Amino acid sequence: MLTDAAARDFFSEARALYPDVRRGLVIEWASWEQRETADAVLGLMSTNHIDYHVVRPRTSPDEYFHRGIAEFLLDWQRATRGATVDPTTFRGDATVARANGVSTELPDTAVDLAVVGAGPGGLAAAAAAASEDLQTLLIEQSSIGGQAGWSSLIRNYLGFSRGFSGAELAKRSYQQAWIFGAHFAASRAVTGARAGAVPRPVGVLRRLASEARGQTGRVVFVVGGGNSAGQAALHLARYAASVSLIVRGSSLAESMSQYLVGELAATGVGIVAEARVVGAGGDGEGLDHIVLRDRVTGVESTVRCDALFVTIGAAPHTDWAAPEVMRDRWGYLLTGGDVLTEGGRRAWPHDRPPAALETSLPGVFAVGDVRRGSIKRVAAAAGEGAVVVSSVHAFLATRAR
Ligand SMILES: Cc1cc2nc3c(=O)[nH]c(=O)nc-3n(C[C@H](O)[C@H](O)[C@H](O)COP(=O)(O)OP(=O)(O)OC[C@H]3O[C@@H](n4cnc5c(N)ncnc54)[C@H](O)[C@@H]3O)c2cc1C
Repeated sequence: MLTDAAARDFFSEARALYPDVRRGLVIEWASWEQRETADAVLGLMSTNHIDYHVVRPRTSPDEYFHRGIAEFLLDWQRATRGATVDPTTFRGDATVARANGVSTELPDTAVDLAVVGAGPGGLAAAAAAASEDLQTLLIEQSSIGGQAGWSSLIRNYLGFSRGFSGAELAKRSYQQAWIFGAHFAASRAVTGARAGAVPRPVGVLRRLASEARGQTGRVVFVVGGGNSAGQAALHLARYAASVSLIVRGSSLAESMSQYLVGELAATGVGIVAEARVVGAGGDGEGLDHIVLRDRVTGVESTVRCDALFVTIGAAPHTDWAAPEVMRDRWGYLLTGGDVLTEGGRRAWPHDRPPAALETSLPGVFAVGDVRRGSIKRVAAAAGEGAVVVSSVHAFLATRAR
């Protein structure tokens, strides 16, 4: 039995030698009843010493143990080699999408529901609608999974205690919607609409997974204070010599999930608060420094920086939606009660009030990040996507009368 310090040294050394290695703590069956075991696992996970735990096999063969090891191997394979055949990795390229078996064609017949965007919200709406026999079309301009598809590890989704990658979520959700009969039109951007579409914003972080390994031994900064910035920093910390987050506010408390804030602290990711990047430069070979300005004192400082990642949130891409669909000044779509309070009765043509996720154009619904006031989380978007289908049913029922 290793002491806590010896276990940490062992896991650190393993990672230093093989940055991609998956590390698990073996625990005894039922030892999770003891608080010390849970604390040890959580402590080692949040300091990035282990990826998860495995329960010591009790019988031979022990399927749970084998499954745990197989999941570690799969994670490792994805991190080192990428997925072999993955229908969700086409990143907007129609030829690649078709080669992976994802349809880029529009159906010949009318559909009950057209969903714009295959992020978690759109995928959940498409899977739920198709499972309830609605003819469903899901249109995606870029990559299946939306912003979540760029996340290296989503840890706050109910039921997945060891977390999962956004790419895995995208692949599984795609298959689920497809099995229920949703029709996909990949590599297609919706450029105009009058009714029946649900738009969402696009993420800005790109290619992080493949970039991270290239940062081995380098000094890296990440601009941004949201969950995406936190995850990027944690992922980069696997490889880089040092990683620091640059945030405009005085703390991360308001913009980032608390579990990520804790993991960043435990992993040694630096926080440069109340700062802006105002300059950058290099020797012609590449970036070697950035200039930071303190937002309170105005003092500027030049620091070494080998790579800078910018993850400062997403802008809602809603220009294409019909003019009747009300937006706030940032482009987020108003739904439900906001339509009446902000637009007044004139904005809403019916006696009935708008449904909770309905926009000011009856029959057009908005779910996920694009909706004004939404919680910018995978679970929230997926939940809204599932919930909106009952309003779609109600709307279609009124049309049929
Ligand atoms: C790197 C990163 C890490 C994150 N980590 C977490 C996490 O750990 N936990 C968590 O809960 N949340 C996390 N988030 C936030 C989470 O990913 C988002 O809240 C979630 O993806 C929102 O889902 P959505 O379906 O509303 O929109 P999006 O995921 O933004 O999907 C919208 C989709 O619509 C498509 N689209 C937009 N306009 C059009 C158009 N005109 N035509 C066709 N397609 C269009 C886009 O291409 C995109 O694929 C993370 C975000 C990022 C960027």
